[in-house]
Amino acid sequence: MRKHCFDIPEGIIYLDGNSLGPPAITTAKRVDQTVNSEWRQLMIKGWNEAGWYRQPRTLGDRIAPLIGAAPGSVVLGDTLSIKIYQALAAALTMRPERRVILSDTGNFPTDLYMAEGLIKTLGQDYELRLVEPDAVIDHLDESVAALLLTQVDYRSGRLHDMAGLTQKAHSHGVVAIWDLAHSAGAIPVDLATCNPEFAAGCTYKYLNAGPGAPAFIYVRPDIADDVEPALSGWMGHAAPFGFEASYKAAPAIERMRVGTPSVLQMAALDAALDVWEGVSINEVRAQSLELSELFIREVESRCPQLALISPRNPEQRGSQVSFAFVQGYAAMQALIARGVIGDFRAPDVMRFGFTPLYIDKADVLRAVEILVDIMTNDLWDVEEFKTQKAVT
Ligand SMILES: *Cc1c(COP(=O)(O)O)cnc(C)c1O
Repeated sequence: MRKHCFDIPEGIIYLDGNSLGPPAITTAKRVDQTVNSEWRQLMIKGWNEAGWYRQPRTLGDRIAPLIGAAPGSVVLGDTLSIKIYQALAAALTMRPERRVILSDTGNFPTDLYMAEGLIKTLGQDYELRLVEPDAVIDHLDESVAALLLTQVDYRSGRLHDMAGLTQKAHSHGVVAIWDLAHSAGAIPVDLATCNPEFAAGCTYKYLNAGPGAPAFIYVRPDIADDVEPALSGWMGHAAPFGFEASYKAAPAIERMRVGTPSVLQMAALDAALDVWEGVSINEVRAQSLELSELFIREVESRCPQLALISPRNPEQRGSQVSFAFVQGYAAMQALIARGVIGDFRAPDVMRFGFTPLYIDKADVLRAVEILVDIMTNDLWDVEEFKTQKAVT
């Protein structure tokens, strides 16, 4: 759909936009401009004159339409782990008499680790209750303070029913927090209709803002002025440059800011978001499903060694497809060596992301041919592909 906006190296089929999107063609130039025309020329004046100070909000307003959020309800900053911590801490203060955080066993570990860390810090008898993804709906009751879920499972691509679960959560007075790491830029999300109190996501996956790009957080506008910020940094203060001795939260979403924003990385995000101008997320979704259905059909009929672990029903999947294979790590390394880039998640999951902004049908068919060759001829079965690297 926007292949011309990306400069993917010759011979590479990039099926890992679910982990780290590629740079847009304009990204390097935009970052260069920020360094040379803004930072170098303006130096400290850049905060006012180049709009750096406002950027976390300006960019929030650019991401908002992609996730069905109202203008002024999204702010950028920090990493997703931090944003999850902030949302969860705020949620717990909204239900002071409750002690359970409900999540599922498919959630991304950092979300669970941050919850554990928060529980330790609070020093009260909070419980992180993990249940199977399908069982979440049955565990929503009056003991639960907050529901903390990732909409799309990072391993299998299974999609939670965000609207249904949020509604059920609210019927029991549970505060809902959704992690949109694998949703934003991949599937249509309608926060305004689903109505959760909090959502957060990252911008280096489907939004292509580059490694270490800032995360975003959404707070529902009707509660935003009452939310208690656990990370009370100066950029979330009502008057950051009043330099008062004591913290006073800024109005609404502004209070979710913590410290100095990463200006260069935000420039990269701004360039990456230009790609979305005139792109319909519904069309992205439709094409992503077409590509993934094609991939599943071909792989299942030609690679009997691989077992589909993503839901077969496309309505129940995000935009990634996962296959299990005992030697999945080696097989993925063999694929990468041939220019087909996906990734691997322990213990045996080979992940393939279908991002129609820069992947088309011909790419999928070519990737399948290479995968078939590797599987049929056991080309993965060599030492060099079996030694696990730090990042898989
Ligand atoms: C990628 C991902 C993260 C990453 O968090 P960072 O703090 O940005 O490293 C968190 N949660 C989920 C669900 C993810 O998929």
